[in-house]
Amino acid sequence: MTVALSPDPEPGPASVPFHRADIDEQDIAAVVAVLRDGWLTTGERCREFEKRFAEHLGGGVQALAVNSCTSALHLALEALGIKRGDRVITSPYTFTATAEVLRYLGAHPVFADIDPATGNITADTVQEAWHRLTPAVRRRVRAVVPVHFAGLPCEMETLVELASRRGWSVVDDAAHALPAARHGKPIGTWGTATAFSFYATKTLCTGEGGMLVTADDAVAHRARVMRLHGIDRDSFARYRKADGWRYSVVAAGFKYNLTDVAAAMGITQLERLPELQRRRAAVAARYDEELGHLEGLRVPEAVPWGDEHAHHLYPLRVLAGRRVRDRFIEELAARGVMTSVHFIPLHLQPYYRDSYGLLPGDLPGATRLFDQEVSLPLFPGMTAGQVDQVLSAVPAALLAAGR
Ligand SMILES: *Cc1c(COP(=O)(O)O)cnc(C)c1O
Repeated sequence: MTVALSPDPEPGPASVPFHRADIDEQDIAAVVAVLRDGWLTTGERCREFEKRFAEHLGGGVQALAVNSCTSALHLALEALGIKRGDRVITSPYTFTATAEVLRYLGAHPVFADIDPATGNITADTVQEAWHRLTPAVRRRVRAVVPVHFAGLPCEMETLVELASRRGWSVVDDAAHALPAARHGKPIGTWGTATAFSFYATKTLCTGEGGMLVTADDAVAHRARVMRLHGIDRDSFARYRKADGWRYSVVAAGFKYNLTDVAAAMGITQLERLPELQRRRAAVAARYDEELGHLEGLRVPEAVPWGDEHAHHLYPLRVLAGRRVRDRFIEELAARGVMTSVHFIPLHLQPYYRDSYGLLPGDLPGATRLFDQEVSLPLFPGMTAGQVDQVLSAVPAALLAAGR
């Protein structure tokens, strides 16, 4: 029997992937060491990762390792008592995880529009969304969930001020925002609670994983219990030695704990985070420099002085809109440059559109950015040659797309 061999790759330029995870020998050695120890699930590595993560944010917060950012968001909102019928104001310009966790609790998202220049909600758009609600529904708003799109921090000082004036909690979706800071203060220390993602494509990756960060002891305690089946270990801490088998279930919790295999990688990735960010920032700076003058394109806004951008994504805008943008993506692919679009906004997704009767024009900023956005390749291991290939493909693809 003959076995068909895989075909040779298509001739043409080598392709620049959209993303490639940066895993080095340290990460691999750390994971192998866990495998050799034999303690695979939540243990010492998770505790160490949590301790270092809290320190990385300057201390003064508790960090709880969990298996995803989605879990962290769910736990934070649950711990804050968000329940059936409550409303939470958030961004439509995000991944579905941000809003789906509200539905887990029976609460409903209220979408505030974004500024298409940044992709972020603002205190003004949150106010507008709140004003559009009926007085009875306004009283059910309990929290705001800002998303730091692409790694650019939201204007947290005004969002936090508005939230505290109205008695809302702030739970940031910081899946893109590690490391990031607003006015020199790290994202993770602004909101009542913050959720980070260590998904395979994120700036710190453990394959799957997340971190819930909060300075609120009650939130931390509840989330700690709920992340592992509603088991309250603290109530038995004093018996530890002889009574290690004893536990008490105080609520119907979740299975959201992180493994030590993932945490081991989290620790080594956290050590390398400044270097990984420097490399991503260098690629973004080249893109800004070389593409900023091209007619028909808009590069991301400059990062405000005193703020820190995580450079998770490089969201380029094709001003001619959807038809040209779609062709631009194909023309880039034909030149070996793989891209993505972030995001298909939630008000255009069938579930949210139909559940809440939303139209594209209800959130014009989000609809406009979606029509124009293309995320260029951006990852720490990008070579100078790959960056050059992107930079020469962009003007050519734009010309071809506009014809
Ligand atoms: C990736 C992502 C999430 C989900 O993160 P997980 O760790 O996969 O749960 C949530 N919000 C945004 C904005 C994301 O990009």
